[in-house]
Amino acid sequence: DLAEFPGDELGEIAERIIKIYRRLQYTKEEQNRLKHELIQNAAHELKTPVASIQGYIETILTDTKMTEENRQLFLERSFAQTQRLTAILQDISTLHRLDSGTIAYEFEPVDIYETVSHIQQETALQLSGRRMTFVNQLPSPLIVRGNASLLYSIFRNLTDNAIAYAGDGTTITLTARQTGDYWHFCFSDNGVGIPQEHLMRIFERFYRVDKGRSRKMGGTGLGLAIVKNAVIMHGGTITACRNEDSGVRFVFDIHC
Ligand code: ADP
Repeated sequence: DLAEFPGDELGEIAERIIKIYRRLQYTKEEQNRLKHELIQNAAHELKTPVASIQGYIETILTDTKMTEENRQLFLERSFAQTQRLTAILQDISTLHRLDSGTIAYEFEPVDIYETVSHIQQETALQLSGRRMTFVNQLPSPLIVRGNASLLYSIFRNLTDNAIAYAGDGTTITLTARQTGDYWHFCFSDNGVGIPQEHLMRIFERFYRVDKGRSRKMGGTGLGLAIVKNAVIMHGGTITACRNEDSGVRFVFDIHC
């Protein structure tokens, strides 16, 4: 009941309310800015493949002297761009589902050792092509209660990134230890690493250290944003830091 407060105290309360209101307003503005930025970035990401597909098809349709070989090449390139579009749209949809908070993910016991072993098998060719070694030092079994598909996304994205960016001949090492109700994971590589000024931003949507390289490697710029949200969904947090010698280390925890 405000009538109970002396005049000067009322003034103080009013001032505090105004301050809180301004902060809320700022947060809302900030949120809107981020939303706006995300839509702008997404539109930009989608525009590039669409424009190339349009260009290839237009040339096929209008260039009457085109050789069969070039026609085939342009169709193959168009197809690759449609795959890129699909990857971006799939990642946007995964992030949207994670953000919305309205879709219930099914949680069940998942053996992370098994999940990682599968990923090692799936990526064996790419790993050997780059002379990379993936050392899985997890205990077997390592059971957590989680969503199998999201947990797979976490380890698959980190593995794909190491293959794409760490560099030939590097080693990926995965370790984990349990304290209380959490498993603490450390996913590290001894590759080229990420410059300090970029480390804080790599979990942002569409943020890349090297845009050209990411696109060339088929990256959507959303992988680590998905990893971060999937970790949060499992009660944990994730950080990235530079390894002492070289490379990058992702440290995160997952609720048992
Ligand atoms: P992308 O689709 O571009 O891979 P991500 O969100 O997965 O998007 O990663 C963001 C950026 O972080 C990448 O573009 C890359 O520059 C950098 N990055 C991620 N993992 C590594 C790594 N293991 N070594 C070096 N750079 C990395």
